[in-house]
Amino acid sequence: MGILDGKNALVFGVANNRSIAWGITEALLREGAAVGLSYAAEMLEKRVFPLAEANNISFVEKCDVTSDEQIEAVFAKAKDHFGRLDILVHAVAFAPGDDLGGRFRDVSRDGFKLALDISAYSLIPMARHAADLMTGGGSIMALSYYAAEKVMPRYNVMAIAKSALENIVRYLAVDLGPEGIRVNALSPGPIKTLAAAGVPGFRMMLKYSEKVTPLRSPITQEDVGNVAVFLASDWGKQVSGETIYIDGGYHTLGLTATEEDLQ
Ligand code: NAD
Repeated sequence: MGILDGKNALVFGVANNRSIAWGITEALLREGAAVGLSYAAEMLEKRVFPLAEANNISFVEKCDVTSDEQIEAVFAKAKDHFGRLDILVHAVAFAPGDDLGGRFRDVSRDGFKLALDISAYSLIPMARHAADLMTGGGSIMALSYYAAEKVMPRYNVMAIAKSALENIVRYLAVDLGPEGIRVNALSPGPIKTLAAAGVPGFRMMLKYSEKVTPLRSPITQEDVGNVAVFLASDWGKQVSGETIYIDGGYHTLGLTATEEDLQ
C-alpha cells in the first residue's frame, strides 16, 4: 500500500536519470501513483524512453512548453489515457547561456523573454489544462530556487524567472483553491543536474553550500521526491501557495560563515 495509490500524475521535465523530475517520478511510483512523463525534445528520447520502459510507464509524450498547441495536445492525450489527473509536476527551466553568469546589466531582452516564457509562464497554461482534469481536486508543484528571493551569483535571468514562478504559484493557488486544487513551489538547494551544469561555477557553489548549510549534507533528487509525495498526498491537503525549502536549512542563514571561518 502506498500513500498515493489510485492517484494519477503528469510530470514535465525529465531529461535523464539525474533530473529532479525523475527523482520525483521515482518517489511517486514508489507510493503507488500512476505516472505519465512529458519531455522537451527528440534528442532526449534515448534517455527518457529507457527510463520509462524500465518502470512500466506507458504515457511518454513530447512537449515543447513554448507552444500552446503542444501543451494542449499533451493534456488531451493525458485525458484519454488517465481520465482524471491528481498531480502535476512542473520541473522545467531554460535560459540562454549568455544570460547566466556575466554582468546582470547585460541580460538580453530575447534571453529574458525566453527564460520567463519557458521557466515561469508555462506553468499557467499547464495548470489551466490540468485543472480541467483534476475533477477530484489535485496538487500542482513547480520547482523553484532560493535565487527567487535573494541574490545568488550568476543566476541572473533565471533568478528573475524563479521570482515570477513563485508569484504565479501564489496566484494559481488562489485561483484554483475553490476547486480543491493546491499549488506550491518546491525550492531545493543545489543538485548536480543537466540544467545546473549550465550555471557557470555551479560545482564550486555546490561545494560551498554543503560546507555552510546547517544540515551539512548534499541535497538529493530523492529528498525532493519525498517532499513532493507529501504535497501530492492527503497529508498536505491544507498546504497551498507555499514555497517549501528542501535545502538543509540554508535559507535560514543571514551570514553564511561556519564557526571555523570566524576563528
Ligand atoms: P534538468 O536539466 O534535468 O531539467 C530541466 C528540464 O527542463 C529538462 O528536462 C529540459 O528538457 C526541460 N526543458 C527546458 N526547456 C524546455 C522546453 N522548452 N519545453 C519543455 N521542457 C523544457 O535539471 P533540473 O535541475 O532537474 O531542473 C528541474 C527544475 O528544478 C528546474 O525548474 C530547475 O530550475 C529547478 N531547480 C534545480 C536545482 C538544481 O540545483 N539542480 C535547484 C533548484 C531548482
